[in-house]
Amino acid sequence: MSNTKNIVTSSRAWIEVDLEALSHNAREISLSLPRGCELMAVVKTDAYGHGITKVARRLWREGVKTFAVATVNEGILLRKNGVKGNILVLGYTHFADAKILSKNNLEQLVVDGAHAKSLDETGYKLNVHVAIDTGMHRLGIERKNFDEIESVFKCKNLTVVGVASHLASSDSQLSEDIDFTNEQIKNFYETVGDIQEKGYGVGKLHVQASYGVCNYPELMCDYARVGIMLYGVMSDNSKTKPLPELQPVLSLHSRVIQIRRIEAGESVSYGRIFTATKPMRIAVVSIGYADGVPRQISGNGGVCIVNGVKVPIIGRVCMDLLMIDISEVGFVEPGDVVTLIGKNGDEEIRCEDFAVASGTITNEVLCRLNSRLERVYWR
Ligand SMILES: *Cc1c(COP(=O)(O)O)cnc(C)c1O
Repeated sequence: MSNTKNIVTSSRAWIEVDLEALSHNAREISLSLPRGCELMAVVKTDAYGHGITKVARRLWREGVKTFAVATVNEGILLRKNGVKGNILVLGYTHFADAKILSKNNLEQLVVDGAHAKSLDETGYKLNVHVAIDTGMHRLGIERKNFDEIESVFKCKNLTVVGVASHLASSDSQLSEDIDFTNEQIKNFYETVGDIQEKGYGVGKLHVQASYGVCNYPELMCDYARVGIMLYGVMSDNSKTKPLPELQPVLSLHSRVIQIRRIEAGESVSYGRIFTATKPMRIAVVSIGYADGVPRQISGNGGVCIVNGVKVPIIGRVCMDLLMIDISEVGFVEPGDVVTLIGKNGDEEIRCEDFAVASGTITNEVLCRLNSRLERVYWR
């Protein structure tokens, strides 16, 4: 039977990436942005586990011209793979790497006056974006420290090509969070006004990430820094304003290795947290927490799909293996495909549901998918 099934790969566990879905999402998101606002595709952390090279090249072909990465190395990788356009490094870059930034034409997010000064003193000509802290209290300079903001503009070797901020609660529908977000937005544009009043050019403005685009679509920005939505999922299942029709890009699969019967009273896996209350059939699946399936998913609503039937994950998830209850599945044999995220037959597990069962958000789930998983690209 199984030798007539389509074999996508012989891997023990793998990711399938639907590049046409990615293209679709990029088009839909771009269309939903106000005129003059461009998609900055956030492809940090290996494009949220989807594979940065393939993803960025596809987006580049699709007409996306601006990318955001977390590290200099990710930026270099894009350049090596023929991605032109603007690449902004959102994460920390030591001044010792200024030469690499310059050589690869990477733009750097500058987080404070000291960071700017250290980069400036290297003598390399750099394009930078200035981070404004409008209430997130993570990176950036606050409006009240205007001299510090101005010091970045005064750096001889730095050209400010953008001014940015980040919203702390743009996903929330609570009125106090909405008020807070509107304060952040107001603070941002006032700071931008202060800078312009001093005669400096602010370059490109950008504030929104995915939820900012959904819930504050009217903002007049030059870029929207979209990550998670590009991959066709939201961070979790909470309600948000209507979105473009997005398609999940990634699915996660593994295989049955072994099948056994256990009797009532027998336990499964480490710590014996699962004990059978009746005779059952269980299968061992060749994926584990080392691949990025959190231990927490077991007993917390975690499920898989095998041969089109949704079944629970039982017992502790191990490093490279996990166990499932296949008592209700007609026919299963070693080698059969087990889907942890995505479609299998008529069933589907959304990444959002996988994340909720794992006690986290899809962003974390996707970033933690280990590079040892084979990536299979479609379309
Ligand atoms: C990761 C990141 C984004 C993208 O966030 P999503 O919620 O995934 O869209 C945007 N801006 C900054 C500064 C980020 O670090």
